[in-house]
Order: sequence, then structure tokens, then C-alpha cells
Amino acid sequence: MAKGSAIILVALGVAVAGVCWAVTHGPSRPALSPDGRATTDPLHDALDDLAGGDFRAAERAGEAIASHGVMPRPRAWLIVAASRYRQQRYGAAIEAYRNYLSGCDSPTMRRYVTQRINDCRAASAPAPHRVPSEQLSPERLAALAEVDDVVHAESTDHFVIRSRNYDLSKLLGAEAEAALRRICQDLLDGRAFPHSVDIYVWRDRREYLNNASALAPEWSDGSFSVMHDDGLVTWRIDLTQLDADGGFSTRMLDRVLPHELCHLVLKDLFGDAPCPLAVNEGVAMLAEARCDPQRLVLAGAAVAGRRGIPLAKLLILPAEQVDGNEDLFYAEALSFLEFLRGRMTGGEFRGFLEHIKSGSTVPEAVERAMGIPADNDAPLMPALTTAWEDYAIAQSQMLRALER
Ligand SMILES: [Zn+2]
Repeated sequence: MAKGSAIILVALGVAVAGVCWAVTHGPSRPALSPDGRATTDPLHDALDDLAGGDFRAAERAGEAIASHGVMPRPRAWLIVAASRYRQQRYGAAIEAYRNYLSGCDSPTMRRYVTQRINDCRAASAPAPHRVPSEQLSPERLAALAEVDDVVHAESTDHFVIRSRNYDLSKLLGAEAEAALRRICQDLLDGRAFPHSVDIYVWRDRREYLNNASALAPEWSDGSFSVMHDDGLVTWRIDLTQLDADGGFSTRMLDRVLPHELCHLVLKDLFGDAPCPLAVNEGVAMLAEARCDPQRLVLAGAAVAGRRGIPLAKLLILPAEQVDGNEDLFYAEALSFLEFLRGRMTGGEFRGFLEHIKSGSTVPEAVERAMGIPADNDAPLMPALTTAWEDYAIAQSQMLRALER
């Protein structure tokens, strides 16, 4: 058995033992039949189902006991939560733990359940993305740097790609569809993206800047735009085929394409509602197939040296105030969003974005998405800032240690 599997089995064993302890913790009532004789406690039957691996039966029984119309027993929410955890339904498990917490006064039990909620969040952390350029041979990469005289158009379900390399148009069609599926799964819970997107691939940065949207920043080599013209809406992405050395830009394939695509999905999600720039850019960077460790190192070093943009400012900074400070802004936005995403289930993260769309500030959206009760005496922003800064510094130190 692989070492990882053994650790998981031990962890699951500990989890079931923990639930047994938690459920049976405190005085228990023997169940009585109508004639007063002791009978089997349904709570113990549900625990037996859980220990025996019949998680659906344990969940059903736990729910019935916890929300019984005459004599509800809230401890059974712990069985429901553990059953859902074992079925890898982590968001639903957190819901059950919260149901239990809402009526729990014991500090010991609150600590135990809070730890279990954190375990659920950690278990539902997103898997690392597949990196498209790592699937390509050196020969194919070299051929992708060739630029023909004619444009090759490729149509897929959601994209029309135009580049001057036949293989590149085909490749981008497949990779754009794969990235869109992944992003829609993460941000829209699988809801389909309803638009068709034109993708234009330009030879180099000069050609890109001459042809992309006038809003494309001078330093960029990829951008998105949504143009309205006479009732017609055009969703568009502009990309650059070659890097500064004249080779095929793997950065375009692995990072810029999913990044710009994610901006379009966020645009579809938010409509005309504003999304803070740091959230918009941070989420788009999380969609990239390869996370840039240099950004995370920069963010941590800036925070440690008190040279960073303070979090409260970062989260409301408009685009015009980012000019000249792009590297630090992008680094901190990535670090903060990566920190948040790692502490939320997929459902909580989608809830976080929905709350922002409805007008919540970032700290309010965090509170609401994670079910943290608002406390006017202890506002979340200072605690959130400290937690993120500690994380950014530790992560930067770890990445630098790995580089050595
Ligand atoms: Zn961006």
C-alpha cells in the first residue's frame, strides 16, 4: 500500500473514532420503548453504519435523529457531517457541522468541530492544474513557432481561433475548451458559458499592440475585451504567438490564455456589477495552469519588509492607481486570493464571489461565505490582514528555501 493511502486510512479511522467520542461525549439517554423497556439507541445504530462504511445509511439516520419533530438530538449532526465527509461531499459536511455548532455551548466541542470544518476545507482544496505545454514535444514546440502568410481559422463550441499556424489554431481550440470547462466548474458550478469568443493570435508583441483593443496595457501580451456595437456584443481575446526570443510562447498557452478566459467568465458572472480589481486579477491568476512562484516570493518579501500595499488598500485600488506598481499589485493580489481559496470549499468560494457581486466588501463577503458571525467589536479586516500577511511571509520563505 502506498504511504499516502496508509495515512488516509489512519486519518479516516481517527475521524470515525472522533465522531464516536463526540457523539457519545456527555450524558447519554438510554432509549425506551413505549412500555418502558430499554431498546437500541438509534444514535448507536447510525454510528454502527458509519463505522461499517454504509455512509448513506448513516447520513439518512443521522438527519432523521438530528431533526426529529418531537425530540431532536443535535449531536446526530456530527454523524451526518462525518458521513458526508467520507463521501467527499465537503461543503455539505460543513453545513452539518454548522447546524451542530448553532446549538453548541461547550468550548471543547466547538474547538473539535471547528477543526473538522478546517479539515473539510483542506480536503476540498483544488487539484493542481494540468500544464498544456508539458504535453508537447520539443519538435512540436519548434513547429508552433512558425508563422505562415495565411490565417488558419478553427471553430469549436465556444471559440473561433485565428492564427497563422494551422497546428496552433487546432491546439488553442482544444486547450481553450478545456480551460473554459475547468473555469466554469470552479466559478459557475458547472453552468455553461453562453457566449462565443473570437481569439486572435498575433505574431509578436508589436503586432499584438497594433491590433488588440486600445485598452490593452503597453506591458501586456494578452488581453480580453467585450465590445457592444449596434446591439451586437463581441467577446474577444488577443494573444501573442512568439516570446521575446522568437520561440513559441508557452507562457501564452499555459498562463495568458486561461487568465484572459477567466476574466471573460467573471465578466459574464458579474454583468454590470463591479468586481474589485485585486479580486478580478487574483482569480484570473489562480486560473493559470502554472502559478508564478516569483510573484508569491515578491508578495511575501514586500509584506515582511513593510514595503507592501496594505491589504485594506489593495482590495479597493482602482486600475489607474496600479500603473507603475503592477508587479507588486499582481503579486499581492495572487497571494491573497490563493490564501482565501485555500481556506474555502468550492461552494464557499463561489458564495464569496456572489456576495461581492451583491455589493459586499471583501471582508463582509468572506464572513458571509464562511459563516463567520459578524462581530462589531472585532471587525474581520485586521484579523484577515494578520492571517494573510503571516501566510504570505511563510510561503515566500518556503519557496525561497526550495530554490536553494
Ligand atoms: Zn488580468
